[in-house]
Amino acid sequence: MTNSTPYVGRYAPSPTGDLHLGNLQTALLAWLHARLHSGQFLMRMEDIDTPRVVEGSAEANIRDLVWLGIDWDGPISYQSERHALYDQAFDGLQAHNKVFPCFCSRKDIREAASAPHGAAIAYPGTCRNLSAAEQAKAELEKAPSFRLRCNQCEDDFVLKRADGIYAYHLVVTVDDLEQGITHVVRGADLEDSQAQQRQLAKYLAPDRNPLEYISVPLKFDEAGDRMSKRFGSESAQAWRDRGLSGPQLATQLAKDLGLVDGSQTLSCSELLDSINLQDWQRAVRQLS
Ligand code: GLU
Repeated sequence: MTNSTPYVGRYAPSPTGDLHLGNLQTALLAWLHARLHSGQFLMRMEDIDTPRVVEGSAEANIRDLVWLGIDWDGPISYQSERHALYDQAFDGLQAHNKVFPCFCSRKDIREAASAPHGAAIAYPGTCRNLSAAEQAKAELEKAPSFRLRCNQCEDDFVLKRADGIYAYHLVVTVDDLEQGITHVVRGADLEDSQAQQRQLAKYLAPDRNPLEYISVPLKFDEAGDRMSKRFGSESAQAWRDRGLSGPQLATQLAKDLGLVDGSQTLSCSELLDSINLQDWQRAVRQLS
C-alpha cells in the first residue's frame, strides 16, 4: 500500500442468524485493522442468498455490532439491492467468453472425478467445451449453473447457480472492487476463497492493484469446538441477558486475543488507543 492508496476495509456479515462471538471477534479485528491504518471501514450485508437469509437477522446483526462499539463509514450496503452490478459483471465475463453453462449435478461431478463422498473435488471440465447444439439440447432438460472458464486456478468454479442466484465468489469480488476495498480481513475459514477471488478480480479489473487478503483466527468455545451459527454458539444477546455491556465483551474478546490484560473495561475506541499495529499482528500470528 502506498500513501496514494488509502486503506478501505470492510465487514460483510451474512444475515443468516445471530452473530456469534467468533463473528464479533472477526468484526473487531477488521475494524481495529482499518482504524489502526486510519482507514475507512465499510459495512456490507451479504443478503443475496435469499433461501438462507433469516428475517430480522440483518437488523439484529447491526444492533449487535453497534452495541459492541464498532462504527463504519457511510450507509450500509445490501447485496440484495446491487443486482444490476452483478448482472453487469456477469454479462461482461460472458461477452469475453469467460463463462460456460454447466449441466452437471454434484453426483455427476463426483463420479467424473472419481472422488469419494465428501472429498473436495475440482470440477473435471465436463461441460467446458460443449457445442452450442449440445448446450441447447441440455437446456431442454434442466437449467444450468454457470461457471468461470478459469485458466489459472484449479477449478472452473460456479458464478451463478441453477436457481439464478449469484454465487458468493462473484458477488463478493464485484462488491470489493466496486467499493474500492483495499484490505479484506476475514475469518480463516474463508482462506481457500482467495485464489478464486484473486482470479476473478484479475478478469474483472485487470489494471487495479490487487486486494490484500488477511485471514484472522477463528474462535473456539469452551468445549474446543469452532463457533458456528448452525450450532447456536454464544451470541451478544447472551451477554446482554447476563446484564453485561458491549465494552465488557469487546474487552473480553481483546483479552482472549492477547491484546490487553483485561484489568480494566475498555470500549472499542479505547482499545484502539491502547494497541498498535504490531500488537494486532502479533495477536493474529500467535493464534493462527
Ligand atoms: N459473508 C461472509 C460470512 O459472513 C463473509 C464474506 C467475506 O468476508 O468475504 O462469513
